[in-house]
Amino acid sequence: MGDMELVEALRRQGISDKRVLEVIHELDRATFVPESMRSAAGQDSPLPIGYGQTISQPFIVAFMTQALNLQPGERVLEIGTGSGYQTAVLARLCGEVYTVESVAELALPARERLGQLGFNNIHFRVGDGTAGWPEDAPFDAIMGTAAPERLPPALYQQLRPGGRLVLPVGPLHGSQELIRVTRPSAGGERPRVEKLLGVRFVPMISAPPPAFLH
Ligand code: SAH
Repeated sequence: MGDMELVEALRRQGISDKRVLEVIHELDRATFVPESMRSAAGQDSPLPIGYGQTISQPFIVAFMTQALNLQPGERVLEIGTGSGYQTAVLARLCGEVYTVESVAELALPARERLGQLGFNNIHFRVGDGTAGWPEDAPFDAIMGTAAPERLPPALYQQLRPGGRLVLPVGPLHGSQELIRVTRPSAGGERPRVEKLLGVRFVPMISAPPPAFLH
C-alpha cells in the first residue's frame, strides 16, 4: 500500500528526485506511527510517536533525502532513528544504514518494525549519536534528524572526503537551519556549508561526559 496523494503533495512542493518519490510511494507511513495516529499518517505533517518525539513531516524527509544525493551502494549514518521511517527511506536508496537512537524505547520497536518489513541492511545502536559511529566510519553520507546547537565535530570527522552531511542546527527550542556540509575531496580545502531551509526539529541531546572529566 502506498501514499500516492502524499507523493503528489511532495511533487507540488518541488521534490523532484524520482527515486525518493518512488520510495515514499512504496512505503506505508502508517506502519511507523502509533495506532491512534494511523488515520493522519497520509498527511504532510509531523506526528507524535511518544517519549516527546515526533516522526518528521514527509516533506522534510523527502527534502533531506534528496539533499543527500545518495548513490546505490553508499554507506549512510543516521542520528535519531525515532520511528524508523526516515531510516527505511535511506535503506531503500543506499547500501547500508547505520542508525543511532538515544531512546531505547523507540529504537527497539523501530528495529523490530524494520525487520518485519524485510530490511536487512540496517545496523542499530542505542546511544548518543553526537559521537557518531567511529567503528564503521568513514561514511559516504550522514543525516541528523534532531537538532544540535552546532555541528558535532565527530560527525564531520566521520565523513569520507567528498561525503555529504545534512543536519538541522540551531537553538534547542527555536527555529533552526537545515545545513548541508560537503567534505572536500582534497586535503587543505575548506568544507562547503550550504544553508538549505529554516526548520524546527526536536533537540539533539548529547550525553554528559563521563564523571571523571568534570
Ligand atoms: N527520523 C525520525 C525522527 C525522530 S525525532 C522519524 O522520522 O521518526 C528525532 C529523534 O532523535 C528522536 O527519536 C530522539 O530521541 C533522537 N535523538 C535526540 N538526540 C539524540 C542523540 N544525541 N543521539 C541519538 N538520537 C537522538
